[in-house]
Amino acid sequence: MTAATTPAEPAITVDVAIVGAGLVGGTLAVALARHGINTLVIDRLDPAATFAPAFDGRASAIAASSQTLLAAIGLWPHLAGSTEPIREIRVSDGDAPFFLHYDHALLGETPLGFMAENRHYRLAIAKAMAAQREHLTVEAGRAVTGMDDGPDRITLTLDDGRKIHAQLAVAAEGRDSKLRELAGIGLTGWSYPQTAIVATIGHARPHDSIAHERFLPAGPFAILPLPDDAGVRRSSLVWTERADAAASYLALDDARFLAEIGERVGGFLGELSLIGPRFSHPLGLQFAARYSQGRLVLAGDAAHGIHPIAGQGLNLGLRDVAALTEIIADTRALGLDLAHPEGLARYERWRRADNLMMAGVTDVLNRLFSNDIAPLRLARDLGLAAINRIGPLKKFFMRHAMGTVGDLPRLMRAPQGQPGRSA
Ligand SMILES: Cc1cc2nc3c(=O)[nH]c(=O)nc-3n(C[C@H](O)[C@H](O)[C@H](O)COP(=O)(O)OP(=O)(O)OC[C@H]3O[C@@H](n4cnc5c(N)ncnc54)[C@H](O)[C@@H]3O)c2cc1C
Repeated sequence: MTAATTPAEPAITVDVAIVGAGLVGGTLAVALARHGINTLVIDRLDPAATFAPAFDGRASAIAASSQTLLAAIGLWPHLAGSTEPIREIRVSDGDAPFFLHYDHALLGETPLGFMAENRHYRLAIAKAMAAQREHLTVEAGRAVTGMDDGPDRITLTLDDGRKIHAQLAVAAEGRDSKLRELAGIGLTGWSYPQTAIVATIGHARPHDSIAHERFLPAGPFAILPLPDDAGVRRSSLVWTERADAAASYLALDDARFLAEIGERVGGFLGELSLIGPRFSHPLGLQFAARYSQGRLVLAGDAAHGIHPIAGQGLNLGLRDVAALTEIIADTRALGLDLAHPEGLARYERWRRADNLMMAGVTDVLNRLFSNDIAPLRLARDLGLAAINRIGPLKKFFMRHAMGTVGDLPRLMRAPQGQPGRSA
């Protein structure tokens, strides 16, 4: 029977409908349900498919403040066992003698962040969702085909013809957001002439929980520590390459691909091996013209997509999650409509400036470092060396990387007395 001839099922009515159960939408669904908000989350994918190593080979650097959020909403216990703490970050400019070294010990005991494979994060979301059944419904393998934004409610139409009524809908479908398009919210942005090649490597020597970022002329090359798997020491690579050269690297056989990686990694990890498939992501920056319209609000990459140079795209999305959860919970406590314009305006004010600033910082860093122009190299190397030597400046940048500065939502503030708390 086709969807069109299916007998009409009664519409589902919830407080909040989220479209996109990725890392941002899935985390938001768990957070809202934990706050007693009746939530429905829709994703076009079957979650089981997203747990496979071949689905998404990326691992994400989860900043300290994002970890605080995940702990506060009960998601962290499902993920913690699959993460690796980041205790140090070493930033170097090619083979220049200057480098920048962040050591978590400078600020306390808390790691700077944690590395988690995206597939493990997805699995943790599924487990945390299963614990929230009272307030959470999951519609997997379904897409939204229509949206009707009315004065009293917003109605989403699923591809099987069913209707979802909600006070508020959240677009969390990533960069190609269908709801953003249906609402006619424009985008600003540009493509970078770069592609991120992602791979997981095994290595003979331990990584000692240190993340490395090497600025090479084609773009940053990141070596990020992962937990051992069945006794194999592992790291995740994000190799930013010129877009016109990436395809030829991706087409190399395993031995030659590994040799290219070996040249860029250097010898400090010992003998290398390739684990699992290679992935590639074209890079670009995009920014939505508005974060809300009527009863629709945008979160995560649907609102802002940035360069991965600083590993902050997901962390910004998680800050959207924490801010939106706080605003929705406060609005509910006041007995107001969850799409109350003041709440949505507060969200836009709160998140837009922070997201724009990070988009700008990553754009400038990428332009400054992804080249081999001698005067620029000298200037940036002196800059790295200066930050490395000036303690307060270094701590300032470390706190930014940890996400513990600025106007943090309640869910991201570390409990009193715990290291990593914003000053
Ligand atoms: C190479 C690389 C490395 C990165 N590393 C880091 C890092 O270390 N740290 C960090 O903070 N960020 C990192 N990022 C950024 C981060 O991956 C993204 O910001 C993050 O994944 C965005 O999550 P999201 O949930 O908003 O969107 P997505 O992850 O794109 O999820 C969107 C979800 O919506 C679903 N969907 C889409 N359309 C529809 C539809 N029409 N109907 C129903 N469902 C739909 C999809 O199936 C998907 O599940 C990196 C990015 C890249 C490219």
